[in-house]
Amino acid sequence: MIILKSDSEIKLMRDAGRIVAVVLTELAQKVAPGVSTAQLDAWAEEIIKKHNAIPTFKGYNGFPATITTSINEELVHGIPSPKRVLKEGDIISIDCGATYKGWVGDAALTIPVGQISPEAQKLLEVTERALYIGIEQARVGNRSGDISAAIQAYVEKHGYGVVRNYTGHGVGRNMHEDPQVPNYGRKNRGVPLKKGMTIALEPMVNMGSPRTRVLDDKWTVVTDDGKLSAHFEHTIAITNGDPLILTQL
Ligand code: MG
Ligand code: MG
Repeated sequence: MIILKSDSEIKLMRDAGRIVAVVLTELAQKVAPGVSTAQLDAWAEEIIKKHNAIPTFKGYNGFPATITTSINEELVHGIPSPKRVLKEGDIISIDCGATYKGWVGDAALTIPVGQISPEAQKLLEVTERALYIGIEQARVGNRSGDISAAIQAYVEKHGYGVVRNYTGHGVGRNMHEDPQVPNYGRKNRGVPLKKGMTIALEPMVNMGSPRTRVLDDKWTVVTDDGKLSAHFEHTIAITNGDPLILTQL
């Protein structure tokens, strides 16, 4: 069931989303060689609590941390650890959720650690651009498949693989609501988009094969071929006009 949000509810989601944006902006500045993923996690939790919000991920299906930190061939759901120390040339995807007054904001981005290869830089640029190309389609009169198809076409044009096993999703009082919005699909399919829908769009793009597997820790998702992966996500609201990005400053 898709839960439409009123304007006042979307305002609260914007507040939650802004807190997530603060976290990701501050963490992006702290990412550097020598920093551990556990340090990033501790900073994220501190910022969220300072804003009187709750780390949405912590305890979600038993997840032990505030953010997910996924390095290089890891695409999502990596568990922060003092043993995982960033090094020059890595890329790190950080996903963060904050619950404020009962409403969830969910966003992610992939950050270069120091100087990265031109190939990695291109992957990051294409994945971030794919997110905005998807957001552009999030309009009354379109269907969810228009978002999916636009993301897929743009990503595949660059020869990358669109991950199939994980998708965008509705978000509101719960982190995962209907509808699912895959990063692949066909135009004019899926659910009609309506004013008041709030969705987390999140292209996950692999440099090689779209196939993924889960590590023995039962959380960390990696590319099957060991090549790099990137992830960008925003929570957005569908309005009568342009889509509203809730997880920005
Ligand atoms: Mg997320
Ligand atoms: Mg999400």
